[in-house]
Amino acid sequence: MVPKSKIDEILDGYDVNDLTIATLCSHSSLQIFHGARKMGFKTLGLTISHDTRYYDAFPLAKPDEIIRYADFDEMEERIGELYDKNVILIPHGSFVEYMGPRRFSDYAVPSYGNRAVLGWESDRDKQRQWITSAGVPMPKLITDAREISEPVMVKYHGAKGGSGYFIARDYLDFKMAVDNTQPYTIQEYCLGTRYYMHFFYDPLKKDGYRCEQGGSLELLSIDRRDESNIDEMYKLGSIEESRRHGINPSFVVTGNTPVVIRESLLPKAFDMAEKIVNRSYELFGGMWGPFCLETVVNDKLQFKVFEISTRIVAGTNPFISGSPYADLIYPGFSTGARMAMEIKESAADGTLKELMS
Ligand code: AMP
Repeated sequence: MVPKSKIDEILDGYDVNDLTIATLCSHSSLQIFHGARKMGFKTLGLTISHDTRYYDAFPLAKPDEIIRYADFDEMEERIGELYDKNVILIPHGSFVEYMGPRRFSDYAVPSYGNRAVLGWESDRDKQRQWITSAGVPMPKLITDAREISEPVMVKYHGAKGGSGYFIARDYLDFKMAVDNTQPYTIQEYCLGTRYYMHFFYDPLKKDGYRCEQGGSLELLSIDRRDESNIDEMYKLGSIEESRRHGINPSFVVTGNTPVVIRESLLPKAFDMAEKIVNRSYELFGGMWGPFCLETVVNDKLQFKVFEISTRIVAGTNPFISGSPYADLIYPGFSTGARMAMEIKESAADGTLKELMS
C-alpha cells in the first residue's frame, strides 16, 4: 500500500484550486463525472480497452478528457501525467476489480477514501470478521461443505458482480458446481427482500446523524439489483424444473432499480451502518465516503448484511438527480456529486489530506 506520507507529499505539489477528478471509464463513471462537473471540477476518464463512444450520447456526463492506455502497466508508467493534472482518483468497484485490489492500493495517485479498507473488503474472511465484530448479523457461515443441510450460497472472492455464484442444497450439488481453483465461501441462503443501502460517512461534517468518531452518517439512496437469470427464473416454474432443463440459477448483475424501505426499518439500518463505521476506525483507521450495505430483510423485519462495498456502487446510478433520501439532505445530489462536494469543501478549508490516501 502506498504510504500515506507519499500521498501527502504528492498533494503538497498540487494546485488545490485546479484539481481534476478522474476515474476508470465504466461502472458509475457517468455519475462521477456528472457530479464532478456540477461542482466545477475538470474531469478525466482513464481507460484500457473500454468503448467510450457512449459518452457522446451523454454530454453532461462526458469527461473533459480521456486517456487510453494499452494496459495497467502503461497506466503505472505514465503516472506523472496525472500529477501534472492534479488528479484525485475516485475508486469504484470495476476500477478496483479490473486493476486488482493490491495493484490499486500501490498506485501512488491520491485517491478518495482509505485504501486500507481494500484489504478488509476483498478478503471475505476479514470482511466477516469486521462486520460481525461490529455486532451486525451476517448469513451463517458453513465451513465444511459436507455439512450443507439447507440451501446455501457459494460465492467466490472479489466483486465479480455475482458471476459464478451458485445455490447448493446438499453436498452433491456443491461438488458438482464448485470451481476449486478459486477461493470461495459458503453461506446460509437468506430468503427475504434485498436492499442495497448507499450510505456516506463524512468524517469532517459536524451536524446531522453524528457518530462516535465525530463525523456524520448519511443515507443517500437505496436500490435493488436486477440479477440474471435468478430474477426471472420463476417464469419457467421452480428452480428444480429449470435444472432439469440444464438451466442453473445465476446472480449476474445487469441493472438496478430504485427502492425505499419502510420507514420503521431506518433506525435499524442506521444502527448497523454506524456500528460498521465505528469498527472500521478500530480495525484499520476508518472507512469514509460512500459505502453500501447489501442486506436481506426477512418477514420478522430482521436484517442480515451479506456483503459490504466500501466505495461508490453502481446501484447509486438511478439517482443522478437525487433520491427520496438525498433530497432530504442535499436536493438533487447524487453520490458522485456528494463526493465532489466534499473534495471541494476540504480543498477550500485545507483538510483535503484527511480524505485522501
Ligand atoms: P454479493 O456478491 O455478495 O453481493 O452477492 C451477489 C448476489 O447474490 C446478491 O445480490 C444476492 O442476490 C445474492 N446473495 C448473496 N448472498 C446471499 C445470501 N446469503 N442469501 C441469499 N442471497 C444472497
